Amino acid sequence: MVPTGREEWDRIKARLRAELGEDVFSSWFARVELASIEADTVHLSVPTRFLKNWLQSRYRDRLLTLFGESFGTIRQIEFSVRSAIRPSAAPRETAAEPVATRPIPFPANGRAVAASVAARATDDREADVLAGSPLDARYSFDTFVEGRSNSLAFAAARRVADVRPGEPVAFNPLYLHASVGLGKTHLLQAIAHAARAQGRRVLYLTAEHFMYRFVAALMAQSAIAFKEALRGIDLLLIDDMQFLQGRQVQQEFCHTLNSLIDGARQVVVAADRPPADLETVDERVRSRLAGGLLVEVGAPDVDLRRRIVAHRVACAKKADPRLEISAAVIDWVAENVVSSGRDLDGAVNRLVAHNQLTGQQIALEMAEVALRDLLRAREPRKVKIEDIQRVVSKHFNVTKADLLSARRTRTVVRPRQIAMYLAKALTPRSLPEIGRRFGNRDHTTVLHAVRKIEEMASADRGFADEIEMLKRLLDG
Ligand code: ADP
Ligand code: MG
Repeated sequence: MVPTGREEWDRIKARLRAELGEDVFSSWFARVELASIEADTVHLSVPTRFLKNWLQSRYRDRLLTLFGESFGTIRQIEFSVRSAIRPSAAPRETAAEPVATRPIPFPANGRAVAASVAARATDDREADVLAGSPLDARYSFDTFVEGRSNSLAFAAARRVADVRPGEPVAFNPLYLHASVGLGKTHLLQAIAHAARAQGRRVLYLTAEHFMYRFVAALMAQSAIAFKEALRGIDLLLIDDMQFLQGRQVQQEFCHTLNSLIDGARQVVVAADRPPADLETVDERVRSRLAGGLLVEVGAPDVDLRRRIVAHRVACAKKADPRLEISAAVIDWVAENVVSSGRDLDGAVNRLVAHNQLTGQQIALEMAEVALRDLLRAREPRKVKIEDIQRVVSKHFNVTKADLLSARRTRTVVRPRQIAMYLAKALTPRSLPEIGRRFGNRDHTTVLHAVRKIEEMASADRGFADEIEMLKRLLDG
């Protein structure tokens, strides 16, 4: 589906790139997509709430002018946040959203930067966005529930947090990866709290905040102070590393990383994928990140889920002693809300709210009603690359070995491209990973396949239907 206005949008982006320079442009606009244009409103989608706030406060007027020049009648720009996982899963930013607390103060020699950032922030509608990455007081080691899927990450995080000043650092960098809602941010912030309590100089930043601070420092011509400030800290925590973009920003990040690690200062990074799959990140940064300890946090098993829910319920009870949630309900939630800590959190919040609003006891029947849509929203089937390979080889009557082989005959090449396309469309896997799973192919081969199939589908109705049919077969 190509929204009308695509060409104009490309032209507007080219204008912005020329006006802002490649680095600023790719930091803020590379991931903006034109969703639709309706009457006098342009709908743009972005991957994160941070970016939405940032673009809204800094670039709305400029975009309005540019769209107005192309379309005449545009009066509004609306931003929406795309889902991070799958197009079918609606973005949910419910009660689990961190509550802004005091930002980590910048070290003394960074004051100039902090001041300039603050000055710039005053004319922004959402000043908190610019105040640095907030820490949530609830995200401590005490409130983190340990289980099989996260015990290594937990132990490594504790170890990093407990290093005394002057002691050698344990694993550097520590790199945590896991899909959304499995506790990465919680662990990073727990480290930050614990290390700050010991008087260490700690900086916790999302990769996006890092970008913002760097770009802001460049514009305020205080980049040197910014760099010095960065290099003067004991512990740097970077969250959501997958969002680091921009050549100059990465260069700076790379320098920071090198100088901290070489100076035996601790770096901890979290991302939704392993370093090798950080497609937008520079090769040198990736290999430096991969040079420390990599720990993956897995999905929680039912036992861990039960303990997380029980823990949440206990917290809610502290706030409202009249609250009653039976063990049966806790079990039921743990068994049925299966995806992540964030959903478990949301489920408990939902039950508590339901109870407070309706005065109804929290019993099983009520839980089923209150969480029905949460369960349904969470149900999109997880398509595996093996399933895709199986279905495609059956459909085209080739063997799976053929799909993975180096053979280049047409009867094999096309099904292979279709399978790679489906892997990109239906799974959250990255291009390099898909390449690996298809007989160790390069990610550019996968990209080529994806483009080829998209092209063919848009030119040939019958072919598009066939692809659609395969998708439905796989996606349920
Ligand atoms: P991520 O950063 O990996 O997407 P978060 O750290 O934001 O995930 O976790 C999402 C929510 O789930 C948070 O409220 C967090 O406290 C909670 N959570 C996840 N794992 C655990 C755990 N093991 N113990 C307690 N809470 C958890
Ligand atoms: Mg996170």
